[in-house]
Amino acid sequence: MGANDLQQTITLHRPTKVETPPGPWTVEAIQALLDKPLMDLLFEAQTVHRQHFPEGDIELATLLSVKTGGCPENCGYCPQSAEFDTGVKAQKLMEVDEVLRAAQAAKDAGATRFCMGAAWRAPKDRDVEKVAVLIEAVKGLGMQTCATLGMLEPHHAHQLKAAGLDYYNHNLDTAPEYYTDIVDTRSYQDRLDTLAHVRSAGISVCCGGIVGMGEQPVHRAGLIAQLANLNPYPESVPINSLVRVPGTPLADSEPVDPFDFVRIIAVSRITMPTARVRLSAGRQQMGDAVQALCFMAGANSIFYGDKLLVTGNPDVDADVQLLRKLGLRSRRTTAAEEAGACA
Ligand code: SF4
Repeated sequence: MGANDLQQTITLHRPTKVETPPGPWTVEAIQALLDKPLMDLLFEAQTVHRQHFPEGDIELATLLSVKTGGCPENCGYCPQSAEFDTGVKAQKLMEVDEVLRAAQAAKDAGATRFCMGAAWRAPKDRDVEKVAVLIEAVKGLGMQTCATLGMLEPHHAHQLKAAGLDYYNHNLDTAPEYYTDIVDTRSYQDRLDTLAHVRSAGISVCCGGIVGMGEQPVHRAGLIAQLANLNPYPESVPINSLVRVPGTPLADSEPVDPFDFVRIIAVSRITMPTARVRLSAGRQQMGDAVQALCFMAGANSIFYGDKLLVTGNPDVDADVQLLRKLGLRSRRTTAAEEAGACA
């Protein structure tokens, strides 16, 4: 068959509209999606993606650890827990100037959202006051702000909202049935309570999970069901592939099959059609081809910057080149958002 014949056999179709049920999602329904032939699943996810994100842009979010290490929780994947010997040194909360410099550099490099992470079980009153100052300062640069500080009391959530916090990150990590295998210093319900306080305060929710922690397929489906059934579901959904850090209990976990990871991204897109699905930890190990498949599956946000809290991340130049090679544009803050941010 010649090239001309081949051309004649190819018919381009506009994507047909995929009707996604509004939920609630059962674990079985999610599992059925995860089990679809990969190309069918990718097509469905990409179709949903184009319906809701016709511009197809990629959001760049930079994450800075503003208070590192010494955390009293025992999340089995985390090098910042004081229980594990990982070589991470505990540090105090960073000064405003230092954080502002990092935020400005992230903005100059093209990031639109700046996320500040602190390794606390739950911030105290004085911690929230200090973080509120950081949020106001970063907001003043015209960036979207996000914080991840551990469990929040309702009044703390309101205080952060008043300071201008746009998003609060608090991950569910995994399915409820597997959760106590990963952490036992706080419960799944504690996490859901914090998410409810964040919502009540009018802050957008960033909530996702981690795969590659030894969970079974049903736990992956269970995690997605939990996220998709939050009412409303999160605006941002970070999906992490475990970075196996020596010294943590999960250091010897089996790596995730790359196609299984792509499937999880695709099903997150289908079940949470308007969310920004973020490729988060583990990108450094994925390589360009798997990341490209993840974008095809509907990922439209990445953590951008050389570090993710205390673990490595692809460097900025590599990300810029990858997006260029794939013909993907990064998201720019709109004039309206800038005006709102500085008001
Ligand atoms: S994930 Fe957060 S809460 Fe858990 S040990 Fe690490 S810093 Fe602490």
